[in-house]
Amino acid sequence: MRSHYCGALGTTNIDETVTLCGWVDRRRDHGGVIFLDLRDREGIVQVVFDPDTQEHFERADRVRSEYVLQITGRVRARGEGSTNPAMATGEIEVLGKKLEILNKAETPPFQLDEHTAVGEDVRLHYRYMDLRRPEMQQKLILRSKITKQVRNFLDDEGFLDIETPILTRATPEGARDYLVPSRTHPGQFFALPQSPQLFKQLLMVSGFDRYYQIARCFRDEDLRADRQPEFTQIDIETAFLNEEEIMAITERMIRGVFKSVLDVELPAFPHMTYAEAMDRYGSDKPDLRIDLELVSVDDLMQQVDFKVFRGPADDEKGRVAALKVPGGASISRKVIDGYTKYVSIYGARGLAWIKVNDIDAGVEGLQSPILKFMPEEIVAQLMQRVEAANGDIIFFGADTAHVVNEALGALRIKVAQDQGLVADHWAPLWVVDFPMFEQDGKGGWSPLHHPFTSPACSAEELAANPGAALSRAYDMVVNGTELGGGSIRIHEAEMQKVVFGLLGIDDEEAEEKFGFLLKALQYGAPPHGGLAFGLDRLVMLITGATSIRDVIAFPKTQSAACVMTDAPGDVSSEQLRELNIRLRQTVTPE
Ligand code: ASP
Repeated sequence: MRSHYCGALGTTNIDETVTLCGWVDRRRDHGGVIFLDLRDREGIVQVVFDPDTQEHFERADRVRSEYVLQITGRVRARGEGSTNPAMATGEIEVLGKKLEILNKAETPPFQLDEHTAVGEDVRLHYRYMDLRRPEMQQKLILRSKITKQVRNFLDDEGFLDIETPILTRATPEGARDYLVPSRTHPGQFFALPQSPQLFKQLLMVSGFDRYYQIARCFRDEDLRADRQPEFTQIDIETAFLNEEEIMAITERMIRGVFKSVLDVELPAFPHMTYAEAMDRYGSDKPDLRIDLELVSVDDLMQQVDFKVFRGPADDEKGRVAALKVPGGASISRKVIDGYTKYVSIYGARGLAWIKVNDIDAGVEGLQSPILKFMPEEIVAQLMQRVEAANGDIIFFGADTAHVVNEALGALRIKVAQDQGLVADHWAPLWVVDFPMFEQDGKGGWSPLHHPFTSPACSAEELAANPGAALSRAYDMVVNGTELGGGSIRIHEAEMQKVVFGLLGIDDEEAEEKFGFLLKALQYGAPPHGGLAFGLDRLVMLITGATSIRDVIAFPKTQSAACVMTDAPGDVSSEQLRELNIRLRQTVTPE
């Protein structure tokens, strides 16, 4: 039906007769001449109809926004002074000869260029209209380019694309499962996969050696801005590769994506231990574009009487840290009060600070409500430790190490954004040497990655001191976003049982839930490992989107619903009966 895309036309097409199909973006009547901006996925071109072609001119007069047209005409250069540098096709226009109305359209629910004025609910309700916006088209086109690049790379490296089940058993990735009732097994449920984790490990046991899948994953979590209940992973597993080799190959994959899609050469990926990341940045996904660091001052604060600092400094689980912000002395009290409130979200009970007005004047040159609690000698050492200079502000966190890291880690990013201290470049890294477990708050352990991650030590060492054990896990972080994570897996049943045991999963439960895995590990499981990248996050990062919903064609709302199809929805009582389900009470739809 068409010879060219609207947005693909240019000066090379001058004098050609072209046939275009697309939507009316705008229609203007300029005293006897009608201008139509015709839009398709590649862009917009201006079409002009004059009364010489009467029948078609009249039709052009009748069309309205978002009508679907087929137009035949001749490409010509725009006259002197009427070119439009803001438009990709702005040097040319099409002189329309024929116009067919392929379909009419109701008045659009919102002007496509005024989408920001309407709420996101309206955009999601009419998603098919929202997706007509060039900006949204660009994002999804780019997403497709990214997956194509990923597939090509992995294919060249000998990876096989193998699908794994959607109707399955629970895989513990730490979230709640979406359940699907089984009709043929009354009272029993499938779980939708939180990830293909166990299947990809089993594929290694089967000898496929290198697997990948652009896999949909489902996690029923309370949604934050960057989460969706169903999301997509670039899921990878390999046998006979160690962590260095896995990191190297996947780093090349991500480099290739940035190069081909953005023409960006990513800098080197430093490897940083989890301990160092927490110590210096208060986060296991540090944004290395920001040149601010947490500095521990526990030893100094053990020498003061000030309880707020002394307590955590003396406590084994406590931490007192400083965060120096150059130029921050000009931050107003009001803004500092705002920061105090901000860190309270992370459990901090206050935010002490010192402003450095004149470093050479000793305490006289400093300004702070806490100076009176500290001996001058300690203050001097403190200034030296953080390398204070005139114009700095130094913030302090004093609490459990967990609270201090969370609070100052978050403050570091917030202040940097507010003060314009986020450098404009890409800052990737690998975070390695994660602890195997963290305390679950109920006296037990929970895995930092997942229960199938191999420890870096022997089973005996692990059992003797689970809190000190490191795992063979690794995360790729870019600009403070965790793009992907994975690990070398446990490939021996005995080790897997020890880890289950430490996680409070006894033999019986292990057998019931993971019997198939434990059995498979006894039939010649090779050493293996892999990782998964969050595709949605990768696309967000590359397109600069601020919401994950903007890079997914049909996303769910914050309350995990689809306002367009009205899902989730009610089902008939017959369906429920077939599934052997009786609702506990009649639920009235909202
Ligand atoms: N299954 C893991 C996840 O979804 C990734 C991996 O370990 O490969 O986070």
